Amino acid sequence: MSVITDISVNEIRKQFPILNQDVNGKPLVYFDNAATSQTPQVVIDALVNYYQKDNANIHRGIHTLAERATTGFEATRKAVQQFINSNEVEEIIFTKGTTEGINLVAQAYGRKFLQEGDEVLITGMEHHSNIVPWQIVCQQTGAKLKVIPVDNNGEISIEEYESLLSERTKIVSAVYISNSLGTINPVPQMIELAHAIGAKVLVDGAQAAPHHKLDVQKLNCDWLAFSGHKMYGPTGVGILYGKRQVLEKMDPYQGGGEMIKEVSFAGTSYNDIPYKFEAGTPNIADVVALKAAIEFMNEVGFEFLHHQEQALLNKGRDILFDIDGFQPIGNAKEKASVISFLIDGVHSFDLGMLLDAKGIAVRTGHHCTQPLMDHFKIDGTVRASFAVYNTVEEVEQFAEALTDIVKKFRK
Ligand code: PLP
Repeated sequence: MSVITDISVNEIRKQFPILNQDVNGKPLVYFDNAATSQTPQVVIDALVNYYQKDNANIHRGIHTLAERATTGFEATRKAVQQFINSNEVEEIIFTKGTTEGINLVAQAYGRKFLQEGDEVLITGMEHHSNIVPWQIVCQQTGAKLKVIPVDNNGEISIEEYESLLSERTKIVSAVYISNSLGTINPVPQMIELAHAIGAKVLVDGAQAAPHHKLDVQKLNCDWLAFSGHKMYGPTGVGILYGKRQVLEKMDPYQGGGEMIKEVSFAGTSYNDIPYKFEAGTPNIADVVALKAAIEFMNEVGFEFLHHQEQALLNKGRDILFDIDGFQPIGNAKEKASVISFLIDGVHSFDLGMLLDAKGIAVRTGHHCTQPLMDHFKIDGTVRASFAVYNTVEEVEQFAEALTDIVKKFRK
């Protein structure tokens, strides 16, 4: 493992050209990583290289460019398989993001197997993309959506979860790390308990993939969905992992080219997994470039990543919590590098705009978790979310900027 020093973080920063700019006359401090992380030069180069040299449609062509594009595309599938330690490469489906992965499972599995009286269980801190697809499929099938409540620290209780599980529970779909609060849920334990009563489990890994080593065989989840653009990769590409035996039972999600074996007007036979779920021309360039992002993360290593991000979180907790009127939202014991907060008497949108004027990018609003905001009886928060290229100095700058803004408001 690399030793954590400012020098190594500075070396990492140099790989991200976007960070080297002024915004509104100040050096950019990018703390909106939970929404989208930045991409290192190797990912940008992979995209450019693909379009300059290899661009062609995949799988069906016999010419050299089509072969190169196909090889690049399938090499990423292999890299993802190793990244999350899935048993087989065929268990990796390319989507456009976590949202599409969850919708795919809700429709291709939920719509086929859920019946009236069945229950789907989610947590009270889900992103809208892990709520609405289940609401839709529950409307279609007559199944019921149930919610594990969140407490005032932004945590769920495993006892309460257990009490909601019953033979009616057919699917549990839970976020591993909350995007709004940073809470790390006890997902391994949740999976074990769900399996004990015969339910299937989908893990929303959108925020987990950039911070945690995910091992789907160890986790034993039935599905895992995550997005490339939150793990130093390009936008428009995501991954749905599913266990072979579960994927094989699922209906196709969309019909079209690539997902078929034979088509006639009398009927169609479907392709094998994963192609059965990849209808139409996929986002080839971004899939190809995602491999470079995985290689970047492997090179940095999860140990370094984890230490660096926890150091930023601890520093943030040390210095931000002293600011006049600072109210942290979500104070889970197990927490990723996200600080969500409000300041008494200053609206979160005003804070976001005033911080932007100082070159600091944070996210404000409900973070696509309106039910969670309702739980806290607020309409939104300011969220600072850190990535491996952020520095302790940036956290200090952030605290100074906030202090300055608050002072001006209090005058
Ligand atoms: N789930 C969580 C926890 C998220 O943070 C996000 C995005 O912010 C999503 C799902 C949706 O991801 P995407 O927009 O990449 O599909």
